Amino acid sequence: MSEIIVGIDLGTTNSEIAIIENGKVTIIEDAGCKILPSFVGMGENDEVLVGEIAKNQYVLYPERTIKSIKRQMGEENKVEMAGQSYTPQEISAIILKHLKGIAETYLKQPVQKAVITVPAYFSDAQRQATREAGTIAGLEVVRMINEPTAAALSYEAEQKAHKRILVYDLGGGTFDVSVVSIEDDVVEVIASHGNNKLGGDDFDQKIIDHIVKHLKQHANIDIQNSRKGMARLNRVAEEAKRMLSDQPFVTIEEEYIEENKGTPVHLSLELSRDDYESMIADYIDETLEAIHIALNGANLTASDIDEILLVGGSTRTPLVSQRLKDEFRLQPHSEVDPDLCVAAGAAIQGAMIGGADVSASAVLIDITPYTYGSSAIGELEGEFYLYKYVPIIHKNSSLPLVKTEVFYTMRDNQEAVEVRIFQGEESDALNNIQIGEFLIEGLSKVAQGNPLLVKFELDLDGILHVSAIEKNTGLEKAIVIDNVISRCEKTEMLEAKDRLDKIFGEGGGVLQQESDTHHAIVQAEALVEKAERMLETASAEDREDMVNVIEMINDALTQEDLASLKEPMDQLSDILYYLES
Ligand code: AMP
Repeated sequence: MSEIIVGIDLGTTNSEIAIIENGKVTIIEDAGCKILPSFVGMGENDEVLVGEIAKNQYVLYPERTIKSIKRQMGEENKVEMAGQSYTPQEISAIILKHLKGIAETYLKQPVQKAVITVPAYFSDAQRQATREAGTIAGLEVVRMINEPTAAALSYEAEQKAHKRILVYDLGGGTFDVSVVSIEDDVVEVIASHGNNKLGGDDFDQKIIDHIVKHLKQHANIDIQNSRKGMARLNRVAEEAKRMLSDQPFVTIEEEYIEENKGTPVHLSLELSRDDYESMIADYIDETLEAIHIALNGANLTASDIDEILLVGGSTRTPLVSQRLKDEFRLQPHSEVDPDLCVAAGAAIQGAMIGGADVSASAVLIDITPYTYGSSAIGELEGEFYLYKYVPIIHKNSSLPLVKTEVFYTMRDNQEAVEVRIFQGEESDALNNIQIGEFLIEGLSKVAQGNPLLVKFELDLDGILHVSAIEKNTGLEKAIVIDNVISRCEKTEMLEAKDRLDKIFGEGGGVLQQESDTHHAIVQAEALVEKAERMLETASAEDREDMVNVIEMINDALTQEDLASLKEPMDQLSDILYYLES
């Protein structure tokens, strides 16, 4: 029997978990939902909330809720949640642990291994942090694959002909583009490029800025001073953005968003798709530039592309398809569900590793989106320079790969050499990002020119291993990469894992899921109770709204239909917030 390796798309905005069953992909549902919002929160009794519940409380308790943690992966900064600080890895681990629980409930057995997807453009530190999040969550991350690769893999499961595909992946927080070749049973990523700080959140921000400006001009208030006000703006801006994907105009309305010297300020502002598109045009231009860099990297031009595959929620923005269509004279594809195909591809990869019989490619070739190298004394622009960059692994090389470069000592009897490791393309090494350094000591006392072999090994997860060997003696030195950002010490990681285990309680995620369901019911009942108490003092108009929404909540509770709770709960919290303000 093949072993179970789940596939996880750990997204900025949403996350999903999938497995292969009888040769087919199943995206595992949690209370009827395939998509788990990537929100983590702390409830009133210090219980951990994940997903929809955490997202629901974001408006009311932004200080107890974390969103878009993926944007901070690989950074050293901690985030605050309910007065406690957490590393980005710990917050991501909470999401992973929850997903693990969902799969365990579905499969009725423990899940220990996973394939997790990351943006192709994720740096070494960001990949490392993702792996650590997996470990903290109690998952062995058997492979990390690039999101566009995963998407192509799920697409390939449906198509057989030889094709060159452009995978355009625009999510909540990141943008990736990859040129993928599919032939027979081989999915090969030929080149990729992207920006790991560009996504739908930036589009929301443009609308938010627009509203902030509007409120300053027309109501004379600076809403940015109100955390709650900004949280509400966040939500209405995102809603407006989504609606503009389907309609040419939207009216952005939010009652009692703030007050000005005791007078309530209501927000009502019309936004057209045309105006919105001009706000985000520069971002779309940036993505098109990235496409051309990827095409150059693959030695191809736009006319060599047979198909365009759209991945990520933000590709629903009509301007995206439109600009791609103008550029490539091809209608982009969105047959594969843009939200789910990454998790599906990860599950297919997991099954391939686990030895299951899947109707997918037997070989998956991935590439590195970065160049890695070291520095040496040399000539730069005709001048003697101490830190000339020596690229060792070149961008767009297929993984896994091992490359060795020879360096020589500069002085007689030189006993130590400092090896610095950089990521980047600049010929002045110091203009690249230094990702590590180590010292090889105890070399033989010989004349200058003693050769040293520096070996760079990049594995399938995009993690770099560096070692150094003195050629003449075969002496291999242990290396210490001591300054890769955010690299957790093992003990710190174990502590984090313990902390998480305690938070989730014995039995891990399964228990958590039950308590989530319980929590949703309790939260809904409490909200209804509170609303009923406030009915008397509400105006006739508000009362009517409240009664309607309460009825919807009660119906959902009676039918135990938790998925239908969200909408009316959101509405009721907004009304109550407005009444209480
Ligand atoms: P993902 O990270 O792939 O889950 O994508 C999430 C992003 O897609 C978020 O920024 C969402 O606001 C955005 N999104 C979802 N649906 C739409 C839509 N209909 N139109 C525009 N953006 C959307």
